[in-house]
Amino acid sequence: MRNRDLRVDVAVVGSGPGGSVAACQLARAGVEVALVDKARFPRDKACGDLIGPRGIELLDRIGPGLDDFLPLGDMAVIGPRGGTVVLPAVAGRDFGGAAWALPRRQLDATLHKSAADSGAEIVNDRVVGVEIVGATSGRGAGGGVGTAGSAPGTGAVVHLDGGGSLSARTVIGADGATSVVAASAGMVRTDRVLWGFAVRTYLHAEVELPSIVLFDRQPGIAFPGYGWIFPGPDGMANVGVGAATGCDRRAGSIAARQLDSFLRLLTTLDLIDGSELGGRRLGGWLKMGMMGTTPVAGPVLLIGDAAGLVNPLQGEGIAQAMMSGEAAASAVLTSCGPGAGRLYGRWLARHQSGYQGSTAVVQNLLRQRPKATSRLARALTWPPVGKRLAPAWALYWNDLVMGGPPGAARQAAWLVSGAIRAGTAGSGDRRSLARRLVEPPNDPTTSPTRR
Ligand SMILES: Cc1cc2nc3c(=O)[nH]c(=O)nc-3n(C[C@H](O)[C@H](O)[C@H](O)COP(=O)(O)OP(=O)(O)OC[C@H]3O[C@@H](n4cnc5c(N)ncnc54)[C@H](O)[C@@H]3O)c2cc1C
Repeated sequence: MRNRDLRVDVAVVGSGPGGSVAACQLARAGVEVALVDKARFPRDKACGDLIGPRGIELLDRIGPGLDDFLPLGDMAVIGPRGGTVVLPAVAGRDFGGAAWALPRRQLDATLHKSAADSGAEIVNDRVVGVEIVGATSGRGAGGGVGTAGSAPGTGAVVHLDGGGSLSARTVIGADGATSVVAASAGMVRTDRVLWGFAVRTYLHAEVELPSIVLFDRQPGIAFPGYGWIFPGPDGMANVGVGAATGCDRRAGSIAARQLDSFLRLLTTLDLIDGSELGGRRLGGWLKMGMMGTTPVAGPVLLIGDAAGLVNPLQGEGIAQAMMSGEAAASAVLTSCGPGAGRLYGRWLARHQSGYQGSTAVVQNLLRQRPKATSRLARALTWPPVGKRLAPAWALYWNDLVMGGPPGAARQAAWLVSGAIRAGTAGSGDRRSLARRLVEPPNDPTTSPTRR
């Protein structure tokens, strides 16, 4: 569909997991929705291919019909001295105890097809900009969620590389970490974003447990991220390195440069056979902790990586992308226009911003103190310590405290989460995030005891 102008209720830009789930839910409800992506599916995407428990719960519920995944349970964390801790996978009240390994080529193509089969109009083109039209753009100072929605009669025009355009009452920006929608609608301050960059490759390897490796870049100085090796459904392990770079995107190459030595480290740890090295590599940006991004501006709603919803502690983003896609669709269905942004913003404030904002501050602190971080990694992965902390650690860093299984581990994780939230509440980053979201005061659903 090139050089054509189309008018729809909702334009979803980007058909990763977030955009496809949003478009699918809207189309199933009878909304006229266009799903735009520059890529043709199936397409590859740099990822560790691991879908966490909340993502699986959502996929089970919306039922796109996935079956080629490899179910996974516990996860090993290996420290700089080789100490290993196993983080247990435990079912909670609203999620199961498993994760899935499923290559993104398959996951994304299945979700894309599911949206098309549900009635979404597929547009294969590159979006070059989005223009908010009508009386109120609702962005900029004082334009956060809860202070300004789009006025009746407003909407947005999505401009396509092929020369055509899409006019829509609502635009859902699901075009990933370097979102054109967010940039062109003035919703991102790239110098305030918490960036990460990660590179992965595939190789033949039998992997007993999915493993995350915390390592030093020099003795006693932590690498600002981690490496991983995850088993795959087809006998191909997914191996990669991710680095947190703060607001400096030039530092992204550190992950790519580290991959070779990480592969050598895996060989010395006996996790892979050195003869396997050398597959194709693919890298990508991660936007974490909701930093530097205003997720709603009038009729434009950002979801997934475009909104910066990647977990700052462990890099998970597929589940958040799909959950935010579902939440944005549900907001549009409930309020059909001006109130959708407010509803979606409230969902973000209740379910994402507390964890995202506080762990963004923690990640910044750890990255800026590589010696202390190395010592911490060694202590946490020292088996006598790690074994005791593992159940609570698994809940906290996977953001599974709310809705988590009752018991001592959840209680401990809840205390840690509360202490970190309280301790970071006054930080500039958190205050700025709260201003952009206008979090509801004293809302009981923001308490870690409720989900
Ligand atoms: C190396 C790496 C490893 C990772 N490992 C994991 C993991 O194991 N588990 C996990 O949960 N998360 C992981 N993540 C994070 C995860 O990949 C993202 O959080 C997730 O893909 C976000 O989904 P999304 O739908 O928001 O965006 P994306 O999946 O990035 O999809 C965006 C879509 O928008 C399209 N698009 C972009 N720009 C335009 C444009 N201008 N016009 C039209 N279309 C456009 C793209 O083609 C793409 O299809 C990893 C990330 C990286 C980089």
